[in-house]
Amino acid sequence: MPLIKSNVHTHTTFCDGKDSMEDMIKAAVEVGFDTLGLSFHSYTAFDPSYCIRDYLAYMMEFERLKREYDGRICLLNGVELDLYGERPSVCDYVIGSVHYFRVGGRHYPVDCRAPGFVKIIEKVFAGDVYAAAELFYREAGELSESVAPDVYGHFDLITCSNAEHGLIDEDNPRYRRAALSAVEKLPRGAVVEVNLGRLFRGQGGMYPSPWLVRELNARGCRFMLSSDAHKKEALGFMFDETCKQLKELGVKSLARYSGNKIEEVEL
Ligand SMILES: [Zn+2]
Ligand SMILES: [Zn+2]
Repeated sequence: MPLIKSNVHTHTTFCDGKDSMEDMIKAAVEVGFDTLGLSFHSYTAFDPSYCIRDYLAYMMEFERLKREYDGRICLLNGVELDLYGERPSVCDYVIGSVHYFRVGGRHYPVDCRAPGFVKIIEKVFAGDVYAAAELFYREAGELSESVAPDVYGHFDLITCSNAEHGLIDEDNPRYRRAALSAVEKLPRGAVVEVNLGRLFRGQGGMYPSPWLVRELNARGCRFMLSSDAHKKEALGFMFDETCKQLKELGVKSLARYSGNKIEEVEL
């Protein structure tokens, strides 16, 4: 039984997840969660490849499963709302995320594997990865005003494939300045997720990087563990180990959804 018994960053076959909503719910019950939030990718007309396609079908299935699993697990209907995505009419919570660089009215994905990322840096940013980081963190800084999310998603997603291409030196002063300027724009007590999706895929560590966890913590941000699950096996993966790591970084408690309320759990 994990210390943190909930996750609200969960993708299903209604967007780019590999498992059905029901299979994700069954897996969450098995892991010992008391709360599971389903969070589809908001619709982005400029890139429909990975996002929600049929919102009505999604809601009908959600309502059916909510009745079916009543008493076994609390289900929340959420959204991972991209900075440039469409906000759904009804939802229990919003995770706000930046997935694109917007340049000259076009959108370029941030979270692509190394070859795609390197091409974008060359083509769009004339090879200057720190110019890309400056844009990314300016966009991240816009989230609080334009999206006002309940939870801030993968804060340093721009490092997504850094283990492969190694272009970003997180000690670089330009990188640090850009990231910290986005930290400064977060509202007091903002809930920032500690996203374990990349760790599960074996492509790097948690988001945010440890140095950023320290900075966010020093500024009074709160943290929420998040599987960013695209497969049922990712639910709760490394939760307890990450709690230990966060404690070592000076984090005293974690925020988590218990039903539709956010509560603090001491580490
Ligand atoms: Zn995301
Ligand atoms: Zn996600």
